[in-house]
Amino acid sequence: MQVSQRLAGINGGGSDGWGVFYRARAMAAAGEPVTELTIGEHDIGTDPAILDAMHRAARAGHTGYAAVPGIAALRDSIAARCSARTGVPTRRANVLVTPGGQAGLFAAHMGVCDAGDSALYCDPHYTTYPGTIRAAGACPQAVPTRSRDAFRPRREALEPLAQGARSLLINTPNNPTGVVYDRETLDGIAATCRGHDLWLISDEVYDTQIWEGAHLSPRALPGMAERTLVVGSMSKSHAMTGSRIGWIVGPEPMIEHLGQLAINTTYGVPGYIQDAAVFALQQGEALEDRVAAPFRRRRDLARTVIARQDAVKLIPAQGAMYLMLDIRRTGLSGEDFANALLDAEAIAVMPGESFGQAAAGHVRVAMTVDDARFAQALERLLAFAAGLTG
Ligand code: PMP
Repeated sequence: MQVSQRLAGINGGGSDGWGVFYRARAMAAAGEPVTELTIGEHDIGTDPAILDAMHRAARAGHTGYAAVPGIAALRDSIAARCSARTGVPTRRANVLVTPGGQAGLFAAHMGVCDAGDSALYCDPHYTTYPGTIRAAGACPQAVPTRSRDAFRPRREALEPLAQGARSLLINTPNNPTGVVYDRETLDGIAATCRGHDLWLISDEVYDTQIWEGAHLSPRALPGMAERTLVVGSMSKSHAMTGSRIGWIVGPEPMIEHLGQLAINTTYGVPGYIQDAAVFALQQGEALEDRVAAPFRRRRDLARTVIARQDAVKLIPAQGAMYLMLDIRRTGLSGEDFANALLDAEAIAVMPGESFGQAAAGHVRVAMTVDDARFAQALERLLAFAAGLTG
C-alpha cells in the first residue's frame, strides 16, 4: 500500500545530520560513559509541586475530555502572562491551548498556508521546521543568515524571498544559535511582513531564558498583532517537556479557526495537565527563574572559559540552553568535528549542519548536564579543538 506523498516527503530526503546523536545514544546504551550535550532537555525534572497539582487534578476527576481550545482558567492565565510580558492586551479568545509548542507550530502553518504556499523560515533552524511546514502542505523556503551577523536575518536576505510567500517563521531566543533578536532585527522582520502581507509565526518557547538583552515579542510591534501567531510552551520554561503543553496566541478569528482544527486533530490537551499548567503559571517568574538558573550559570561559566582561547569562537550566547561554537579554525566541518570529538573524548555535540547549511563549520552544545560535568566537557572540547588548530 502506498504512503501519501505528503508523509513520504516530510523529511525532504538526504541525510538528517543526526548521525552523531544516534551514535552517541548507541555508545551510551552499550555502557560507554558518553557526555551527551545534544538535545534540549533539562537535567532536572518537573517541579514536584507541579506534579502534585497534576495528581490532585486527576484524583479530583479531571480525567475526561477537557475543553478543546483549552480550559478557561488556563487560557486566562496564558492571556494574562502574555499581556504582562508584552504589553499587548490579550484575552482568552486570543489563546488556543495545544499539546506542546510543536503542535502549535504545525497548527499555525495549517492556519495560514494553503497547499503549495511558500513558507519562510530562517537557516539555521530548529530541527523540525522544514518538516512541519511540509506536513502542513506548504513549501519550506530557507532564509539564509550568516555567522558574522550572529545568524540574525537581514532585511536584504528576507525581502526577495518574501515576495509571494505566505508566512515567515522566526525563533527568538534562538535554537540552535542561542542568539536573542534585537529590536533592529525585529523591526526589519516586521516591516517585511507588513510590506509583503506575510503572517509572522513567532516561536517564543525560550522566552524565559534570556541571559543578555531583553526578549521582545514581535506581536508588540506596530501593525503586527493582527498578523502574528505566537507559539509558546511550558516545555522549556517549566521543565514540562513530557507533559505536552503549549499554546498559540493570535487574532481572535484565527484562533477560532484553529480551534476547529484542534477539534478535528488533537481534540485538546488532558484536563489534569491543563490544571497543573494553571498551577505552574500561578507560581509566576520565581519558578521560571529557578528552571532557567542552571543554564544561566553554565553560560556564564562557558563565556569565561571560551574567552581564554582562540581555537573556537562563541556566537553571542544571549539566551536559550545552547552554545553555538564556530569551529572553522580547526579546518573540519561541524559533522567531522562532532564525530571526531565523540571518538576521542566521548563527548557528543550536534553538528551545525544538522540545523541547516548556514551553520556549517559550527557545533551546538546543549548545556544540559550538571555544572561540574559541563565545565569538564567544555574544557576537553576546547583542548581538542586547540589540538586540531596546532
Ligand atoms: N521550538 C523550538 C525552537 C524548540 O527548541 C522546541 C523543542 N526543542 C520546540 C519548538 C517544541 O517544543 P515543545 O513541543 O516541547 O513545546
